[in-house]
Amino acid sequence: MRVRFWGVTGTIPSPSLVASTGGGGRACGNTTCIEVSWPGQTIIYDAGSGFLAFGESIFAELAADSLRSTRIDLILSHPHLDHLMGLVFGALTYDPRLRIHLWASPATLEALNILLNPTSPTSRIYFPPTFIEMKGLADRNAVIPGSTFELGEAKVQTMALRHPGGCMGFRLTIGTKSIVLASDHEHPRQGVDEDLARFCEWADVVYTEGQYTREEYEGLTALGAGPPIPRKGWGHSTMEDCLATAMAAGCGHLVLGHHDPIRPLESLGQHQARLLAVAGNRLRLSMAIEGEILNLA
Ligand SMILES: [Zn+2]
Ligand SMILES: [Zn+2]
Repeated sequence: MRVRFWGVTGTIPSPSLVASTGGGGRACGNTTCIEVSWPGQTIIYDAGSGFLAFGESIFAELAADSLRSTRIDLILSHPHLDHLMGLVFGALTYDPRLRIHLWASPATLEALNILLNPTSPTSRIYFPPTFIEMKGLADRNAVIPGSTFELGEAKVQTMALRHPGGCMGFRLTIGTKSIVLASDHEHPRQGVDEDLARFCEWADVVYTEGQYTREEYEGLTALGAGPPIPRKGWGHSTMEDCLATAMAAGCGHLVLGHHDPIRPLESLGQHQARLLAVAGNRLRLSMAIEGEILNLA
């Protein structure tokens, strides 16, 4: 199983972030889009602005291999624009050769209808196109948060996350390996989130968010040049709480993403070192870097 990070920035694309590692010095700052693939199957988690680069990779694969499967399963956590803009602005959605099957909660599908159904009075206000033009979008499937479904060889478990407007986390199990994708979630209190820990139990990889430090979340420290702002109730977690939950879950590798767009990418290493001092050797911990690939044997 291969995991590729096409977009790991939170909230809004931030091209000012420049990768110092992993990306060969190229610009990054795309919003959430993570590919989980293995021979014959491609699952993509969220369609943030990273979905455009993901689409380019699919076009390149199709050009090189005419027998490449044209099926892509898109699991969508929620319809906030940083997780959706790539679906609308990426060419993949409009290519009739593709068969993108979208899986999302009923609330997310309803929001998409409001934005993209041509009969909706609010279609074309935020985006020029509608579902009519999206020839590559094969269908839209409702998934009740908390339910389990199958995508080919993958078992997909889901969980409702704590986020304004709702959000859904996914746990993919393929063979003996499992990965949790659970961004845009606010811990209910400081420390371990028992529900999320249960969902992540013994997962090989957990991708979640580290948008804020504890001090930034409490409004004690500023993020960037502006004043300190309390961020409780905004639907995001602290790095410290995500680490506590991942350790309680016994997961193998915690990957923190949904980086705040103001945070300099160069500072992520310092946060990683600070968190590793807490984690010790209980798990592997890394900050998500755009372009990085994880291979799970
Ligand atoms: Zn987000
Ligand atoms: Zn969100």
